[in-house]
Amino acid sequence: MVVEMHAGLASDGGSKLKMLLTFVDALPNGNEEGIYYSIDLGGTNFRVLRVEVGAGSVIINQKVEHQPIPEELTKGTTEDLFNFVALALKSFLEREDDQDVKRALGFTFSFPVRQNSVSSGSLIRWTKGFSIEDTVGKDVAQCLNDALARCGLNVRVTALVNDTVGTLALGHYYDEDTVAAVIIGSGTNACYIERTDAIIKCQGLLTNSGGMVVNMEWGNFWSSHLPRTLYDISLDDETQNRNDQGFEKMISGMYLGEIARLVLHRMAQESDVFGDAADSLSNPFILSTPFLAAIREDDSPDLSEVRRVLQEHLKIPDAPLKTRRLVVKVCDIVTRRAARLAAAGIVGILKKLGRDGSGGVASTSSSSGGRARGQQPRRTVVAIEGGLYQGYPVLREYLDEALVEILGEEVARSVTLRVTEDGSGIGAALLAAVHSSNSQQQVPI
Ligand code: ADP
Ligand code: MG
Repeated sequence: MVVEMHAGLASDGGSKLKMLLTFVDALPNGNEEGIYYSIDLGGTNFRVLRVEVGAGSVIINQKVEHQPIPEELTKGTTEDLFNFVALALKSFLEREDDQDVKRALGFTFSFPVRQNSVSSGSLIRWTKGFSIEDTVGKDVAQCLNDALARCGLNVRVTALVNDTVGTLALGHYYDEDTVAAVIIGSGTNACYIERTDAIIKCQGLLTNSGGMVVNMEWGNFWSSHLPRTLYDISLDDETQNRNDQGFEKMISGMYLGEIARLVLHRMAQESDVFGDAADSLSNPFILSTPFLAAIREDDSPDLSEVRRVLQEHLKIPDAPLKTRRLVVKVCDIVTRRAARLAAAGIVGILKKLGRDGSGGVASTSSSSGGRARGQQPRRTVVAIEGGLYQGYPVLREYLDEALVEILGEEVARSVTLRVTEDGSGIGAALLAAVHSSNSQQQVPI
């Protein structure tokens, strides 16, 4: 991971890790004041948020409205998708009475974007099952601005951010030791604060702070060291984005259930563990990740929840206890591998920052947090969120366990994974605050 991070920072196309510039060189620090809005367009859910903040890291009020993104919009036209988003914001604003407030809008857009500035950037490609061809290459902030204008709203995007960046912003708002953020939801990704002089592909990049948040797009990470199985290859073949997002396809919520389904399907073909009732196992994506989680977390003595999921969702009635145990084991292995890979990725970032306790081997700067022998490891916070991480305690346990295993107990104690709730959206609203004209003085990261 560290090697690929260096390669991605050295040149565009130097690595599968895109290491994208975000133009975010200042993060919220708690001094922001006022009312800000944001829109969070992720993979599964869509959110509109209103955040009212006061000095001293106080969120006075926050309102979040969720709705699922209709499946047909993920494969339709650019205009339809952005109209849907703009109309949702319009209906939200109509129910608020802050008509006079100057509205700064943060737009969280959780797909790879080549940013031109903090408020504009073009879509590199869709991920997580979205495929609207004509959006690729377009400025997505402009697409939203156009849709907002079409529905008569006098509000424009102030900050266009990746969900990882929004999450980092909220983490940093509460705790200035927050240096990275990770998302484990429908997809997976991470960002962290890099020194501008380490971003070699962008010579002469100057920021007030000397740092910039880099969006790794780690879902696309690949290495021959990754333990790729037959099932990973089959899964990849079923997706719209073959040969891409390899790391994501081993870790995130969109795919874990399907990996387990592929294993169970092969077992059904090669043995009689499921009897003749296993036809449904040939249906791609029939086992969703929340069901995989429910199977793994069933702690009833007779695995009654496993029986229910098999019966109701996979149309496999009467699987004997021994078979149910086997299904639990498969779900466990898929979960554990995902958690351990995510943990290894986090350690990669810590290593790049010289905060993995190895004395800054991967770092060239003494100020970047490496420690001299005998010193206490420096406190490091990683903001983390996503439906899979938040909704699946077993995955969290495996991830923590792997961090301790790789870092050792002492260093692991200095690393805090802090869960932020709706951070990707709230953080974007706070970044809109930082980057709007009426913002407080910016304090560098
Ligand atoms: P996004 O922001 O990409 O829309 P979220 O962060 O809300 O996604 O995560 C949604 C994903 O998290 C779902 O696709 C699902 O796979 C996974 N997920 C949600 N709840 C659970 C749960 N209880 N157990 C396991 N996975 C879950
Ligand atoms: Mg999200």
